[in-house]
Formats: sequence, structure tokens, C-alpha cells
Amino acid sequence: MSESANCIFCKIVRGEIPSIKIHEDAQTLSFMDVRPASPGHTLVISKAHTPNLLEIAEADLLAVTVVVQRVAQAIQKALAPDGMRVSQFNGAAAGQTVFHYHVHIIPTQEGQRIGAHGRDQADAQQLESLAAQIRAALGS
Ligand code: AMP
Ligand code: ZN
Repeated sequence: MSESANCIFCKIVRGEIPSIKIHEDAQTLSFMDVRPASPGHTLVISKAHTPNLLEIAEADLLAVTVVVQRVAQAIQKALAPDGMRVSQFNGAAAGQTVFHYHVHIIPTQEGQRIGAHGRDQADAQQLESLAAQIRAALGS
């Protein structure tokens, strides 16, 4: 069995499990993190299964990075956070839990302490509402 068969992000790419999408193109997919570290926490992934930064093909890395900037600009426009953390983990020892290349975009507010990951599953309607605002900003 291939590595991607049981990979949760490959399952999202294949539409086998649901996600709240922000953006999609030939090489990348962006969707809401189900356990957000803060409201608006978005993931940008490569569609190709590749575990981490060390192994991703340059073309996929470039495609993800360009979309990270576009989605971050849309989050800024839609949610006006005070700042934004962009992070990416390589290996369990670094805190990686899903071994399919992805970048976190985490809106931050002045004076609020946030972790790298959220603890609790977000309310689906709240995620949907944030996603709609970010999608609208992306399209405008
Ligand atoms: P990392 O530690 O960088 O591998 O983070 C993986 C992230 O994926 C975590 O923030 C999880 O909350 C998130 N995550 C895991 N499964 C899903 C899913 N089915 N849909 C959306 N986000 C997910
Ligand atoms: Zn995968």
C-alpha cells in the first residue's frame, strides 16, 4: 500500500474526507484547520504526497509558498489580525503530526498567547463563517 493511501491530507485531496476549503489549484489545497490555534487558522498543503520540506519537489514548494502569501493577504484583509504566524514542522521531534507537507497560517492578536496547535475541535459553523470571509477576500 502506498504511503498516501492512509494519509489524512491525501484523503482530503481525494475528497474522501471533508474539509472547509479556502482555495484550490492544480498543485495546492488550502483549508481550515479543524483544531485552530486561533480563529482563521488555515493550512496550505501540496496536493502531491510528500512528507516535509526536506523532500518536497521545488515546483510544489514554490506553488505552496505563493499560495501561502495570497491566503495570508486574504486573512489580513478579512480578519485584520494584529499579526500572523506562518509555521511548518519537519519530523515528530519538531512537533509535526501529519506527515504530508503543509504550512500553517495563524492569525495572532496583540497580548494573546497562542500555541503552535489548537487543542479543541472548532465549531463547524464558526469555521464555515471564517472561511467564507477569507474566500471573499481572496476573490476580491
Ligand atoms: P502539524 O503538527 O504541523 O503536522 O499539524 C497538523 C495540523 O493538521 C494540526 O493543526 C491539526 O489540527 C490539523 N488537522 C489534522 N487533521 C485535520 C483535518 N481532517 N482537517 C483539518 N485540519 C486537520
Ligand atoms: Zn499525503
